[in-house]
Amino acid sequence: MNLNVEIDPRSGFCNGVVRAVEQAENYLEFSKSLKSLGSIVHNSLELERLKAKGLEILSLEDIRNLKNDVILIRAHGEPPSTYALARANNLQIIDCTCPVVLKLQEKVREVYDRISGEGGQVVIFGRQGHAEVNGLVGQIGDNAVVIDSLESASRLDFSRPLALFSQTTKDPVEYGKISDYILSRRPDAEVYDTICRQVAHRHEYLLEFARKHTVLIFVSGRESSNGKVLFELCRSTNPRSYWLENASEIDPSWLRDGDYVGICGATSTPKWQLEEIFIYLQKLSDNQ
Ligand code: SF4
Repeated sequence: MNLNVEIDPRSGFCNGVVRAVEQAENYLEFSKSLKSLGSIVHNSLELERLKAKGLEILSLEDIRNLKNDVILIRAHGEPPSTYALARANNLQIIDCTCPVVLKLQEKVREVYDRISGEGGQVVIFGRQGHAEVNGLVGQIGDNAVVIDSLESASRLDFSRPLALFSQTTKDPVEYGKISDYILSRRPDAEVYDTICRQVAHRHEYLLEFARKHTVLIFVSGRESSNGKVLFELCRSTNPRSYWLENASEIDPSWLRDGDYVGICGATSTPKWQLEEIFIYLQKLSDNQ
C-alpha cells in the first residue's frame, strides 16, 4: 500500500500549553518533583511523559490538605478561591495561567462590576465544570450563567441586560450562532469575541487541511474540549476522519492504496505524538 502522509504544520500545543509544559519541565529539572492542580494538558501520553519526570496531578481536594509546598496552576487558570487557599496553606504557586485567559478573567470582572448594579448578567458560553469556565465564573463570585448550546441560550432571562463571553476554545461558528440569537432577543446585549485567536485560526486552517486529504487521523486525548470541537470540524468536512489517542489504535482497514493521509490534533496534542503516528504510517506504507 502506498500512502502519502503529511502532518498538519499548525497542529500541536498552543502557546499557553507550551508555556505551562516548559515551566513544569524547567522546575522538574532541578527539583525532580512538582504538583500540578489538575492535568497540565488533556493528553494521557504527554501526562505519562511528565509524570515520569516527577509531575504529580492533584485535585482541589488534595490541595486543601497540602501545606508548605509548591503547586503549578495550569493554562486554564483558577478562580480567586484557589489562590486564597494556596495563601492559607502556605503554598507557593507557579502560575501558568495563559495570558489570554488572564485577560479574559479581567474583562469578565470589569464588565460584571459595571453591569451588575443595573441587574445585568454575565453569560459564558462554555462547558459547565471545565476548569477555564470555573476560573471565569469564580472571578465574579459564581454569579455567571453558563450556557453550552443554542437551546440553553433560549432559556436566558432576556428581560435583564446581558454580556456574553466565550470559553477560549469553543467553536467560533457555534459562538457566532449563539451571539446572533442573543442579539436577536436583546439587541443591546454586549457580545465579546473571546475565542482564542490561535483556536479560531486553527479552525479555518483545519477545514482546508481536511479537504486536502482523503483520510484524516486526528490525535487527541478523549477528554480534551478543544479536541472534541476540532474533531467534529474535521468529520463534518471529511467523513473519513478517525479520532485516536495513540498509534496502536490505527486500523489499517481505514486506509486505501494511494490515500493522502493528514495527521492533525488539538491544542493539547504534543508534536512528538503526531510524529510517532507519522512514522507508524510511513512504515505501514513501506511494508505493504
Ligand atoms: S487555547 Fe489559547 S487561550 Fe487557551 S491556553 Fe491555548 S493559547 Fe491560551
